[in-house]
Amino acid sequence: MKIDVLTLFPQMFSALNESIIGKAQEKGLLSINLVNIRDFSLDKNKRCDDYSYGGGAGMLMSTQPLFDAIHSVKGENSHVIYLSPKGKLLTQDKVIELSKMGKDLVLVCGHYEGIDERIIELCIDEEISVGDYVLTGGELPAMTLIDAVSRYIPGVLGNSETTSVETFSNMLLEYPQYTRPAVFSGLSVPEVLLSGNHAEVDNWRLEKSLELTQKRRPDLYEKYVKNSENT
Ligand code: SAM
Repeated sequence: MKIDVLTLFPQMFSALNESIIGKAQEKGLLSINLVNIRDFSLDKNKRCDDYSYGGGAGMLMSTQPLFDAIHSVKGENSHVIYLSPKGKLLTQDKVIELSKMGKDLVLVCGHYEGIDERIIELCIDEEISVGDYVLTGGELPAMTLIDAVSRYIPGVLGNSETTSVETFSNMLLEYPQYTRPAVFSGLSVPEVLLSGNHAEVDNWRLEKSLELTQKRRPDLYEKYVKNSENT
């Protein structure tokens, strides 16, 4: 999968050279192309911020460098996403959809108070938010999206990792997990997990998933129940 990232701070993305996402790039499963929007500025001082018509606090990203940067990478197979707190919430379903759409992703990272509405009208296919809070820039949201989507590229996760039984995979939060030792700081691993009885283990895990989801995420639990009723 190819992902172009348009940003004023490409150096922030060095985090993606580590761990699973770093390995995915080394293996050629994922190609991340960082584009510095500032390189496209025709301003003599390479400025990339400008005043907002109508006044008010804060600056916007300048239109010209952003427009040119987008068009330097946008092709027929591109899906251009602006990371924005006003966008649709990034959910696991959305992540899976993006991983399967067969498009090259172009991620636009905003800064200051955001970007000119006409850039959104002209160039952006979709606005995506990573949560109901405001960050200083779109870089961390872009990295979040890249990490989440990359996990669904075949070959990125090893055999020991899987997307099929984890949190959100079936609208339930994942059950509690334990590793060695069997007793740690006076707390024991639940007996059933030591039993070797796979059917009982599965039942216990489902029960715990249901309990946890109902308690912490009643919204998800409701969806799970509705889904189960319809199948
Ligand atoms: N003035 C904007 C508003 O109220 O909607 C917030 C701008 S924010 C300070 C600067 C940039 O950070 C945005 O252009 C966007 O790219 C990014 N950003 C901030 N919060 C985000 C979120 N929750 N999801 C995705 N991107 C976000």
